[in-house]
Amino acid sequence: MKIRNKIVIQGQVQGVGCRPYIYRLAYRLGLTGSVLNDSRGVVIEVQGTDSHVSDFVKILELGKSNPDWPPLMKIASMRSRQNPEIPGERAFAIRKSPAPGEKTSHVTADSATCPECLAEMNDPNDFRYRYPFINCTNCGPRYTIVETIPYDRCNTTMADFTMCEKCSAQYTDPKDRRFHAQPVACPDCGPNIWLADPNGKRIETNSDKAIAKTAEMLKQGKILAIKGLGGFHLAVDAKNETAVQALRQRKQRDNKPFALMAASIEKINKYVEVTEPASALLTSPQSPIVLLTKRNNTAIAPSVAQGLNTLGFMICYTPLHHLLFAEGGIDILVMTSANLSDEPLICDNDEALDKLSGIADAFLMHNRDIRRQTDDSIVHVVAGAQALIRRSRGFTPGPVLRGKPIKKQIFAAGADMKNTFCLAKGNQFILSEHIGDLEDSRVYRHYTESIKHLRSLFDIKPEIFVSDLHPSYISTQYAQSLAGAETIQVQHHWAHVASVLAEYDYSEKVIGLVADGTGLGTDGAIWGCECLIASLAEFTRFGHMRYFPLPGGDAASKDAIRPVLGLMSTLSQDYANIIEAIEPDTARVEMILTQIEKKINTVQTSSMGRLFDAVAAILGLGIRNQFEAQLPMTLESAIQPGIEDAYIVRITEKGRTFQLDYRIMLKELLEDKVSGVTTGIMSAKFHNWAVAAMIGFAIKARKIHAIKTVALSGGVFCNNYLANRTIQQLKNSGFFVLFKRRVPANDGGIALGQAAIAAEMCK
Ligand SMILES: [Zn+2]
Ligand SMILES: [Zn+2]
Ligand SMILES: [Zn+2]
Repeated sequence: MKIRNKIVIQGQVQGVGCRPYIYRLAYRLGLTGSVLNDSRGVVIEVQGTDSHVSDFVKILELGKSNPDWPPLMKIASMRSRQNPEIPGERAFAIRKSPAPGEKTSHVTADSATCPECLAEMNDPNDFRYRYPFINCTNCGPRYTIVETIPYDRCNTTMADFTMCEKCSAQYTDPKDRRFHAQPVACPDCGPNIWLADPNGKRIETNSDKAIAKTAEMLKQGKILAIKGLGGFHLAVDAKNETAVQALRQRKQRDNKPFALMAASIEKINKYVEVTEPASALLTSPQSPIVLLTKRNNTAIAPSVAQGLNTLGFMICYTPLHHLLFAEGGIDILVMTSANLSDEPLICDNDEALDKLSGIADAFLMHNRDIRRQTDDSIVHVVAGAQALIRRSRGFTPGPVLRGKPIKKQIFAAGADMKNTFCLAKGNQFILSEHIGDLEDSRVYRHYTESIKHLRSLFDIKPEIFVSDLHPSYISTQYAQSLAGAETIQVQHHWAHVASVLAEYDYSEKVIGLVADGTGLGTDGAIWGCECLIASLAEFTRFGHMRYFPLPGGDAASKDAIRPVLGLMSTLSQDYANIIEAIEPDTARVEMILTQIEKKINTVQTSSMGRLFDAVAAILGLGIRNQFEAQLPMTLESAIQPGIEDAYIVRITEKGRTFQLDYRIMLKELLEDKVSGVTTGIMSAKFHNWAVAAMIGFAIKARKIHAIKTVALSGGVFCNNYLANRTIQQLKNSGFFVLFKRRVPANDGGIALGQAAIAAEMCK
């Protein structure tokens, strides 16, 4: 007696080797039937004995714990029902997707080279021995090479390379690891590399020699532009201070930390502490930059990350990286995104030669075009698990899934800083890769082009457009310019909280604690340290930090004397000596004070980000944010470990909201400064104050609203100390904590929150 089951699986199941896996599994268990991709996911029909069919289902349920499970495949949901037996069925087949109707999308994220491909690349008997573009269904480029859908070779930048017989045989064999791996290639039929001088003249066209020469130049302290998966990197020897400084000078990148690359965890371990979860992230298919705590006295050039106690490391993630690092003498390289100041990452050969000829001494290039520039993603470890800071290569366009289907198609414009945008359809929120700061006109062009590209890739025709509340945000204006559509404006910090709820697909009310830079509030003030009672349907402002005047609008986020003077203007005592130590230019100080007094270009704010800037300046750690969050990052790095003391937290009821009064903290801090307490202790006490303030809000909110779940969000939660300690103490106080893992806590997550709120509104 045979039974037949129809099983529909959803999640990351297309373009990841799911169908060949199902085929092999069915074959092993002697089942007949079929597997195909459709718009819902993967549809499987299996027929066989009761016990074999139930074994099949159990194996799928086990997921990743199966030894031969495709590494990129993730099942989010699985539905199974019994169908009538088809008598006489003899085989199991991979069927074609049902043609017209709704276009399906198989586009997944790019993935680091897998161990099998690496082994083949290092095997002298393999026909892809030392081939810099080896890949398979489990690894290699995806999103970065797709021109349009469906995801077939002819719609990728591999279209011009005609597969040779050997590659083609693997591509068409369902039992092969390269079955339907669109970028499959070999030295005979695929892309190749060469080394060029800054004029574009090819110095070396032999693959092995080009790699050897690149390594040689790096050892000599030269700067190389190296084309990767999502764009170009600029590379130098990370232990050569002169070379790193030369790169800084030529790139005019003041102090922003450089990312580093090494071949293995063992190599990294000498320079930074690699915890178990960090190690898993470094070697994951996503292969992000992981922020790790520096060890003392490392040989890494100080200019790599001046003033910070962390280094951002990634492991080689393309075959070319592996070949380069296998050359003797290459240990740790700076691998920083090749772009000019805040412009988009460079991914085109001609553009690289044009823009980087004054920076790079030579160019290691190839002829596999990059269609989508995607920066390296950045993560850190919070409470033992991944938390994204920049979501791009390896993660995009992986969707965030929603339990209930979204009734209308949505476009959410995001925020202006660290922009990402979000599209929503079916049960998916598709968040774009990191776009950047829209102020730069080239980034803005990149933004509008990316929206068009992603819309076509996922066949989305938005019916609802969502933006921030801020009328002068470029993203708001863009959303509004798309005529003929409903537009919804969402308050910035509600969107921050909503993005947490979307990530967890959580629909109840929560206590939303937001520690952020700035966002326009519903009262016209600039909010930034907020306690909201929020769901995806509504929010109320339960509490916030007491407002202080912030002179100078946008300039205030770079120039810390502005929040310092704004904050100090609310104290009864004056601290002239401290102000003079921070800014000796008394005329400038006078001018800003007048600005505050006369309320010229001065806003009221509860910004936690600006408070962090001001405290860093008071502690003598600097006065300017040369790159975003430089001062808060330096302040965090200064913390003396093991200090439990905190400045006094006072939260008082005012009208219908609760206010966190920073003034007592500030006075204590200034007195500590006057009496010569160390920077490390003051920084710890300040951070502990911020944590205690968050807990204080949560406890008050729980008492009044009887809610036990807290959602944390906002850019200040990229502060590792603050995030870890707040989560720990909330848990100790009996709260259930939702913390962002797969989407950044900073403004890179705003678009997801906006889209989730709009999705909730669609009835
Ligand atoms: Zn592979
Ligand atoms: Zn070939
Ligand atoms: Zn924000």
